[in-house]
Amino acid sequence: NSSSVITVDGPSGAGKGTLCQRLASHYGFHLLDSGAIYRVLALAALHHNLELDNEESLALTAAHLDVRFAFSSGDLQVILEGEDVTRELRKETTGNAASKIAAFPRVREALLRRQRAFRESPGLVADGRDMGTVVFTDAPVKIFLDASAEERAQRRYKQLQLKGFDVSFDHLLSEIKERDHRDRNRSVAPLIAAEGALTIDSTSLSIDEVVQMSINYIDKIL
Ligand code: C5P
Repeated sequence: NSSSVITVDGPSGAGKGTLCQRLASHYGFHLLDSGAIYRVLALAALHHNLELDNEESLALTAAHLDVRFAFSSGDLQVILEGEDVTRELRKETTGNAASKIAAFPRVREALLRRQRAFRESPGLVADGRDMGTVVFTDAPVKIFLDASAEERAQRRYKQLQLKGFDVSFDHLLSEIKERDHRDRNRSVAPLIAAEGALTIDSTSLSIDEVVQMSINYIDKIL
């Protein structure tokens, strides 16, 4: 499959989600939120009372995951085994559980094909941790979006407050640091910029600036 892929990797809260949505709509490309797949698997594991350290049963669940992604008025809606889990998906506890199970090689392996299936004409914007390094190694455009942990915690804090979640900033910051550590130091598909990727540090940039820098860069390649 030779459809174009734009990969956007980086730590949680760097702004990948918004950047990817904007790029997908700008280029008329499909969108893969790979983190949502890991999150949905974590929820499936929790719903089925699986131990989060049981690689074998997690990989089996990953291979048979019954999940649908639907768009309702522009927002991604996630249906797991017939149940709308969109709201549950975004919780910090779900993200944390996702990051734990994402460290298992067999779990990642079981989700590869599902992710690659999102590559469809005319193109795809792929959001995650290993889009450029593992899942779409041949992507013509690779972006690594970073930001300081404090800035990312601040953004996540505002986001969750807007959604009506009651959270503490300090707790969020320590969770973000813990998740970063796990994502960057795992043995398979650690979070790292792909070779040849454009790295953007968004700490003191607005989302509009990040989008514009990305588009300028992409237009030179595609
Ligand atoms: O991006 P998001 O916060 O939704 O991802 C949740 C977790 O899933 C991440 O902390 C990471 O451990 C894992 N993940 C991953 N590879 C991806 C996307 C997400 O390991 N491509």
